[in-house]
Amino acid sequence: MNETPKGKLNIVGIGPGNDSHITPAALAAIKEADSIIGYTTYINLVKHHLSGKQVTRTGMTEEITRAQTAVESAKSGQTVTLISSGDAGVYGMAGLVFEVLRKTGWKKGDSPEIKMIPGISADSSCGSLVGAPMVHDSARISLSDLLTPWTVIENRIESAAKGDFVINLYNPASGRRQRQIVEAARIIKKYRPGTTPVALVKSAYRRQENIQFSDLDHFLEFEIGMNTTVIIGSSQSFVYEGFFVTPRGYGNKYSLDDGSLKPGQNRAVSLRTENDLASRIPKESPSPNLNITKIQGAFVKTSTTVFEHEKEEIVEAHDSSVATALRALNFLENSPKKKDAQILELRSEEKIQYLGRIGGAILYRNEEDYYLIGKLKRPTDLETFGFYNSAEQDQKWTKLNIKDDSIVSQNQFDILISFSSEDSPEEVYDLFSIYRNSSISERLWNYVLDNSKKILWESNQYTDARWLGHSPKQVWSSFRDNILKCD
Ligand code: SAH
Repeated sequence: MNETPKGKLNIVGIGPGNDSHITPAALAAIKEADSIIGYTTYINLVKHHLSGKQVTRTGMTEEITRAQTAVESAKSGQTVTLISSGDAGVYGMAGLVFEVLRKTGWKKGDSPEIKMIPGISADSSCGSLVGAPMVHDSARISLSDLLTPWTVIENRIESAAKGDFVINLYNPASGRRQRQIVEAARIIKKYRPGTTPVALVKSAYRRQENIQFSDLDHFLEFEIGMNTTVIIGSSQSFVYEGFFVTPRGYGNKYSLDDGSLKPGQNRAVSLRTENDLASRIPKESPSPNLNITKIQGAFVKTSTTVFEHEKEEIVEAHDSSVATALRALNFLENSPKKKDAQILELRSEEKIQYLGRIGGAILYRNEEDYYLIGKLKRPTDLETFGFYNSAEQDQKWTKLNIKDDSIVSQNQFDILISFSSEDSPEEVYDLFSIYRNSSISERLWNYVLDNSKKILWESNQYTDARWLGHSPKQVWSSFRDNILKCD
């Protein structure tokens, strides 16, 4: 009995459409094939490599038959190469082939053997013709609603626009489909300025190649068809000397003159934003033992709270959370506008508790005990701050022991904030949970610094942020939502 020889199915991307952009592996897969199957346009792009081969050209809507034919012929022992333009795994034939295989119950080891061969996808080839538009995060979205409901596509456009992705629109329009690109532009414009760069690349690396630069306000005035990829910049993209560029972000951290680190940045840790850095201005007389970029901005507790009065009102309004939030916001925005306010004296006999920061975590003092709230975000030697870890820890806090009292007492802080003395480290953690996101925490620090009075305590000047200190939960949520604008 003759066993059927095992066949092979190559799933190949031929790149944008000229010989210099087909990979040698894709070409080898074409050369070794007994049979080539593909959409007419793609077959034509490689027809000079096809002499002596059985070629099956198919039309646009015959994909399923094409995939089935490819699988059947390969199963019976042939070497079949199925070609897509660009990369076969990007809106190409590969997905359908695997669906057909699954339907027929094909198992690994069965005939045919399946081989995927990558190709240069349209976004890469189109991108290369206009510059470097995808150096930062990008999203590919096909505007074809032939197989995908428009509501799904619309939602993806909206999400990508909101997420500030560079957006590559595939299948942007055809003879019959003209509405989608208009709708896509409308959605993206909600999130990006009309001056955002847009490139239209038609038939990249083919004879009909045509490249058009425009912007979000004007790109619909140009021809957009089936062979066009539309590249829409992010908020960071720019056009420079005819090149469309989305920067990776090096300029945020390094000087582009000599590659040196910018002030306050560190090679191995997360980028510090301008807001991060603004709150890191060194104090006038820092303790020599302190790394002042790591510890600053203390919250100091007094036994009183500025909120007593407002609290009652908030309780009254408790049944309407909207009213509460508005009241809280109103309070935050109107009460402590005190940048140039006079310096007040804090009585030194008042019992002080404070909050500072070490290595990205919050330092909290409750009575005589010190706690680290949250986790250290950077490797930090606690001894430089006069502490060491005790074994006592919760998921939310770690108790610190004092190793050198003199170092601890030299620590200078610049923000005062009132906490009730009963507040446990856990409660402080919950209140400050926004601190888990450092850029938000920096915005909070800045806001507090900018909007607080100055006070004198034991001849040191601090920022009096007691107005913020004992705020009820609703105030914090309101603060988070409306001032820090975090969800
Ligand atoms: N598998 C292909 C994509 C097929 S979807 C790839 O990886 O590139 C078809 C869409 O791809 C077209 O509507 C167009 O938006 C884009 N496209 C494919 N080839 C292109 C080319 N040479 N120039 C510009 N856009 C192209």
